[in-house]
Amino acid sequence: MKTMNEFKCVFPAVSANEALARAALSAFLIPADPTAQELADLRTVISEAVTNAIVHGYRNASGSVSICLRMLPDRVLYIRITDKGCGIPDIPKAMEPLYTSAPEEERAGLGFAIMQEFTDYLQVRSTPGHGTTLTMRRQLGQIHAEAD
Ligand code: ATP
Ligand code: MG
Repeated sequence: MKTMNEFKCVFPAVSANEALARAALSAFLIPADPTAQELADLRTVISEAVTNAIVHGYRNASGSVSICLRMLPDRVLYIRITDKGCGIPDIPKAMEPLYTSAPEEERAGLGFAIMQEFTDYLQVRSTPGHGTTLTMRRQLGQIHAEAD
């Protein structure tokens, strides 16, 4: 599919970089002029995905997280987040709302449910021992010319 714009970055898997990922997404979306709601939703989505890579993928060990953002035709935003961490042994189980492998950290197990709610498409590919790639798409609303 034709890519109208693209941004890629790789950063160390440290929690300070969750804000960097949100900021990168916000900046990438400026030309598309998203609504405040769309922006809030998508910032939450990228935050959940990057947090998962850091806290679950690498379990706070060192590693890197890759992000690829694309604007596709018809205002479809594509987001891909990759880590080379521990991977997910049972993806359907991991995606169940309220499932968390880290209840002792007081996690709610809602990250995937939120990502699913705020996107039109979510694919999780993971190989235990090799890492995880999330691919998401969200159609932005059409821009309506404002009346004078
Ligand atoms: P919350 O997001 O509410 O803080 P959570 O992170 O445990 O809690 P989800 O984001 O829904 O909940 O993730 C569910 C489970 O999937 C995690 O507990 C973890 O076991 C697994 N998981 C998610 N992302 C990854 C990843 N990148 N690498 C390894 N395991 C992951
Ligand atoms: Mg999570």
